Amino acid sequence: MSSHLKHCRVLVTPTSYGKNNPALKTQLEAEVGEVVYNTTGRPLSDTDLMEVISEFDGFIAGLDTISRPVIEAATNLKVIARYGVGVDAVDLEAAQENGIIVTNTPGANSVSVAELTVGLMLSLARNIPLATKVTKSGEWPRLGGLSLEGKVIGLLGFGAIGQQVARRLSGFDCTILAYDPVIEERQAADLNVELVQYEDLLRQADFLSLHCPLTDETKGMVNPEFLGQMKDGAYLINTSRGELVDENALYEAIDRDKLRGAALDVFTKQPPNPDNPLLSLEQVIPTPHMGAHTDGATNAMGWIALNDCLAVLRGEKPEHRVA
Ligand code: NAD
Repeated sequence: MSSHLKHCRVLVTPTSYGKNNPALKTQLEAEVGEVVYNTTGRPLSDTDLMEVISEFDGFIAGLDTISRPVIEAATNLKVIARYGVGVDAVDLEAAQENGIIVTNTPGANSVSVAELTVGLMLSLARNIPLATKVTKSGEWPRLGGLSLEGKVIGLLGFGAIGQQVARRLSGFDCTILAYDPVIEERQAADLNVELVQYEDLLRQADFLSLHCPLTDETKGMVNPEFLGQMKDGAYLINTSRGELVDENALYEAIDRDKLRGAALDVFTKQPPNPDNPLLSLEQVIPTPHMGAHTDGATNAMGWIALNDCLAVLRGEKPEHRVA
């Protein structure tokens, strides 16, 4: 154990860190001088972080807002180890300019998010949340639904999560199409997936599922034009980032029956305001950004983030450096 580490203070903000495996906490606490956990039960805002960040050498970060002012206030910080894949909430340029290494946990939660995605597709197709609600209230209606068999599933983004969705759907006898600017045909073909043009994906998919990161290019991509290009009566599933979707446009598309419904694990504002019109629609299934919250994913994300955080604090090379 390095004595240098014993002088380090580490901030840990993801509320699920160590929940399924206490060893993640005991090991971190044994290695460094002090660990401070987030007790607010939610991601920290940049205002919250600016008050405390200068005290820390390492940061295992959840979905907190790590803006330029936070990074500039982080005068002792060496590493931001993102507990997850998306780094959209971290100002990577500011981190680079200030010599702070940023890491993430690629692939660690992809099965977990993919399983939720398939669960949401089935929930939409068979109206499971409504069926549960009415049965519990004593009703016994003849609810209909759609089968995934024979349908077209469109994956917008075919990275770690998109590929796991395809793998999991392989027994459902549906056609799987994907659009991704960097994936090669061979990779898709290995999973029985056909790569198609963006417009063709929107036009053909009965279930369109978003799996791309939040970037300047993808922000607000699901706008009226996008929704207008989608197949009539299709479903939208978003387990990626809320900011990809223009929520008012989605509301209108469902309200006027252009889309049959949507399942959303992520929102532009989290939690969404109670008066967010999407929450009022029966055809919308909302979940509280829980894609990565399974035993397998939290353990995998925890170990990768912990190891990379400690590696940087020891002066070693982390395995999953983003910036
Ligand atoms: P990944 O980096 O492995 O794959 C993302 C893919 O999107 C890449 O192949 C990339 O080429 C593609 N892409 C980029 N821009 C695109 C565009 N304009 N159109 C189509 N494809 C595009 O990431 P991943 O592990 O698959 O995760 C995807 C996203 O899911 C993350 O960035 C994160 O925002 C989100 N996520 C959500 C949860 C959750 O809890 N709901 C958990 C993990 C990740």
